[in-house]
Amino acid sequence: MEYFDFKDGIKLSRLGMGNMRLPMKPNSEEIDYEKSQEIIDYAMANGINYYDTAYVYSKGDSERFLGFAMKKYKRDSFYLATKWHYDANPNYKEVFQEQLKRLQTDYIDFYLIHCLTDSNMDKYIASGGIEFFMEMKRIGKIKYLGFSSHAGVETLKRFRDYTNWDFAQLQINYFDWMYSSTKEEYEILRERGIKTFVMEPVRGGRLASLNEDASRLLKASKPNFSIASWALRFVRGLDNVGVILSGMSSLEQIMDNVNTFNDDYCLNDSDKKLLFKACDIFHKSLSIPCTGCRYCLDDCPIEINIPAYLKLFNEYKISGYDALEDKDEIKTVGHPKDCISCGACMGLCPQKIKIPEILEELKNLLKE
Ligand code: SF4
Ligand code: SF4
Repeated sequence: MEYFDFKDGIKLSRLGMGNMRLPMKPNSEEIDYEKSQEIIDYAMANGINYYDTAYVYSKGDSERFLGFAMKKYKRDSFYLATKWHYDANPNYKEVFQEQLKRLQTDYIDFYLIHCLTDSNMDKYIASGGIEFFMEMKRIGKIKYLGFSSHAGVETLKRFRDYTNWDFAQLQINYFDWMYSSTKEEYEILRERGIKTFVMEPVRGGRLASLNEDASRLLKASKPNFSIASWALRFVRGLDNVGVILSGMSSLEQIMDNVNTFNDDYCLNDSDKKLLFKACDIFHKSLSIPCTGCRYCLDDCPIEINIPAYLKLFNEYKISGYDALEDKDEIKTVGHPKDCISCGACMGLCPQKIKIPEILEELKNLLKE
């Protein structure tokens, strides 16, 4: 296992065990303790020393499970990370006491303000929770204080400068590096020397298998690398990245990930070029090639905001159902359900996109 020096002489494993997607009992919302314990035992036996959970994961069962699973190990042989989410329970004092109880510990090593967004930052700041956790740090109940972020760059900058954070957690993977503001967010933390821990390096498992053409390209170059390992190796090569969390839900996954961190091969420039090429092929295979030119809007009798809905559809293809939650932010007169399939838009679209068919699919997805 590869380690890095965090601070104060602490060495953390580069691979961290995420406890958000532990195996569940069949047809149930309960964690399968037996199967999950096997994964934890494998992680401990293979040198992983960072274990991440949150108040809200599996409705609290993730913390309870981790408290149970780590009981057999000496408390100073691993580091626990957990988080407070304002919207789940604004009473941070109550949350913290409950977390100590669930995790069967009297201190938390790494504590995070959970899921900073553009809409919740002011609530976090006004709540007094950050000052409370700073006080917990002062008295030793928390060792290091940080935050995880899904916020835009301006919010991230403001929150970064709110106090002296010990670390922060971002969603970083090669796909978002190419197609979202991830690189900029990474630099925002880097310029203040805030060590960045990574969540979703394989984008919720989406980058564990690419389309055929993209996979073939990567396999031809490195036959022994799994597709998921390319994603882990990409973030591993970023110099301000510390722990890389993977929400592992099977022994097979953890074995593959541990293998990746047992060799010291870092992607070189030509590997990265190839990976970005594969990513581009994968992206094109998923996406409707709408350029946002808006020509199609001229003749739509229903005034449907076609490019905005095609963008939403592309997000859905890449990120799954969660992406559809953004539908209410679309400024439009007509909706996919209102499309009368007149085809006027198609005649104007330089990309020859079959717009009515996509709107029909979107109508069903949105259950309009
Ligand atoms: S097919 Fe649908 S989206 Fe296209 S112009 Fe007609 S009503 Fe508008
Ligand atoms: S005309 Fe075609 S490419 Fe242009 S915005 Fe409409 S759907 Fe997209």
